[in-house]
Amino acid sequence: MKTKILKIGIIGVGHLGQHHVKHYKNIKNVKLIGVFDTNSTQASKIASKYKTTKFKTVYELINKTDALSIVTPTDTHYTVARDCIKFGKHVFIEKPITNTIKEADELIKLAKKRKLIIQIGHIERVNPALLALKPYKIKPKFIEIQRLAPYSIRGTEVPVVLDKMIHDIDILLSIINSPIKTIQANGISIITDSIDVAHARIKFSNNSVANITSSRIAKKDIRKIKLFQRDLYCTIDLLKCITEIYEINGESESKIQAPFNYKGKKKIITYTKPKIKKTDPLKIELINFINSINGIENPIVTGEGGRDALKLAIKITQLIKKESNC
Ligand code: NAD
Repeated sequence: MKTKILKIGIIGVGHLGQHHVKHYKNIKNVKLIGVFDTNSTQASKIASKYKTTKFKTVYELINKTDALSIVTPTDTHYTVARDCIKFGKHVFIEKPITNTIKEADELIKLAKKRKLIIQIGHIERVNPALLALKPYKIKPKFIEIQRLAPYSIRGTEVPVVLDKMIHDIDILLSIINSPIKTIQANGISIITDSIDVAHARIKFSNNSVANITSSRIAKKDIRKIKLFQRDLYCTIDLLKCITEIYEINGESESKIQAPFNYKGKKKIITYTKPKIKKTDPLKIELINFINSINGIENPIVTGEGGRDALKLAIKITQLIKKESNC
């Protein structure tokens, strides 16, 4: 298949958007056209750093491109993405897709009608520590996820569930292929006017249970997942990029083995710590976006995937608001 050189623009070049610019400069089949940011000083700074063009209006940039990254605050995703799609452009929207399901559905419908790609930046899906689980049959019955971060003004335009927990909701939905049976949730507001700390217990129809905790009022960053299933327990440190797998009678080549007896039978616990090649997940996502437009790959997280994660995040937020009056 003949691949096309795609003309790319970035809308919103703050904390994360500037990394989109940096990566696009080095991705095959990409011609970086330029950037737009409502903060003109920031746009100038990033355009000059990466030797690209700063556009005066978003429409001038949209007009000159085939596809755009939208890296603006969440509450602007819908209007910015809608404009891009209406002008026939593919979009990579940073997570969460939008603020509401209605907005997400409208974007998905508009893009489908125009045969355009919508990809959502749920970056943890390509975290190498999570990808290290690929060789294993992962069917967890109990999942514990913790995502803690020190306070930052960025992201506080939405509750912590939509800013931080949504990463883990997306991971969870990608691991467990079963409808949700029940959700219990609690949370509190500490610094902002919305939920700063949240906890959700999600039970699926296949009886798997997940406990997720997220906080934006923590001393240090922690992003950890623990998965428990018959004959297997594993821990994933998404931040340090460490995955550790404990299996009963696993086929692991691991030298670390612990024999034990259970009901008269000899068994062995094997410990494996896969060698993880550090990669840049954002670059992987953007290459996947370019390849998806060129028809070589499918988006890792589609608009529908982003919408499903948002739907559960909103449900959890509503439950917390009802339970905790915040
Ligand atoms: P930021 O505040 O640092 O940057 C946002 C930029 O967008 C600012 O420079 C602002 O001036 C600009 N902006 C605001 N409204 C705009 C508009 N209508 N048009 C053009 N520019 C506009 O925020 P950030 O931390 O870079 O976050 C941006 C988005 O990325 C958010 O949706 C956030 O949830 C997401 N994000 C994702 C991850 C991840 O891990 N995938 C990490 C951080 C942020």
